[in-house]
Amino acid sequence: MSVIHAWAAHGPKQDLVPYEYEAGELGPDEVEIAVEYSGLCHSDISVLNNDWGNSVYPFVPGHEVIGRVVARGADSKGLTLGQRVGIGWTAASCMHCQQCLSGNQHLCAEALPTIIGHYGGFADRVRAQWDWAIPIPEDWTRARWPLLCGGVTVFSPLYTFDIRPTQRVGVVGIGGLGHMAFNSPMLGVRGHSIDFERSKIRGCEGAWSTSCGLSAETADAIQSLAGSLDLLLVTVNVSLDWSALIATWPLEDVYILSASCPRRFPLPSSI
Ligand SMILES: [Zn+2]
Ligand SMILES: [Zn+2]
Repeated sequence: MSVIHAWAAHGPKQDLVPYEYEAGELGPDEVEIAVEYSGLCHSDISVLNNDWGNSVYPFVPGHEVIGRVVARGADSKGLTLGQRVGIGWTAASCMHCQQCLSGNQHLCAEALPTIIGHYGGFADRVRAQWDWAIPIPEDWTRARWPLLCGGVTVFSPLYTFDIRPTQRVGVVGIGGLGHMAFNSPMLGVRGHSIDFERSKIRGCEGAWSTSCGLSAETADAIQSLAGSLDLLLVTVNVSLDWSALIATWPLEDVYILSASCPRRFPLPSSI
């Protein structure tokens, strides 16, 4: 038995208050992690507010967690006590469906989000299935970019589409996600930042990427990029001028990409 001390909200839009819960016996495929750091992602706020209608209360946020393994279930593998690991959006999956067995376990229909129906990392300890506890290098420092949720969301499409330094990427929305896409030294891509606020675009100038900021206030600004981009990375969920944005690609190579589902989808002819 294990009592975990956490911060929890007991209903939508309520304050986080100290909360203790009895975590029970550690599952055979679980590990328990002593939390060192836990990021705050916008999805934590969305779940706190029940924006998606599937929140479970008490709600303990935190799905960008760094910590050390302090207990291992009997069937856990590949991790040692004291090892530093990270927990992202998912804490467990079925490990036997087609998605899990093909390396796409983040798409498992039974995937358990770390903060929905499971207690997250705003706590002294958090649990996860052992293979969702991702080994973190011992020389990791907080100065490095977090990749456990927002970071991996923008890393995944750049990796999936094998983007090279000679290619040009447009990043729409220079918030938490877009800013990381532009500032990751791993990317080094030539890019265009597209946002509604010029102040955010200025934040990308001088970053690793050869960036050129465009305000999306006018369609003309986006149209000036017509046919010039190899990838368009959209990080916002607001109404956009899709016709102008899609025209930034060469027309014979148009795909829709969802960052959370990094696969190519041919563009429907109806758009
Ligand atoms: Zn997140
Ligand atoms: Zn599965």
